[in-house]
Amino acid sequence: MTSGAIKRYGSRYGRKTRHRLDAVETLQKAKYECPACNQIAAKRVSAGIWECRKCQTKFAGGAYQVKKVQVVMEQAGKAYLESFEMEE
Ligand SMILES: [Zn+2]
Repeated sequence: MTSGAIKRYGSRYGRKTRHRLDAVETLQKAKYECPACNQIAAKRVSAGIWECRKCQTKFAGGAYQVKKVQVVMEQAGKAYLESFEMEE
């Protein structure tokens, strides 16, 4: 698994650490569905606050967003576990 997010950290950190950071960044950079325009364009701007890039609507993360976060969490968790497997 390679992405621009990993490269940014260069060789300052070990490979394991970079993969973990990548998993965390995947989670933070994920886009979510905007409740106003229904486009997958909402990004987290701060804890519990989301902003849609299409219609500029700001909204607090409700149950629907939390559900989506859980799905992304599972994906990020998998990448996190894979980073251990790669090392062995
Ligand atoms: Zn929107």
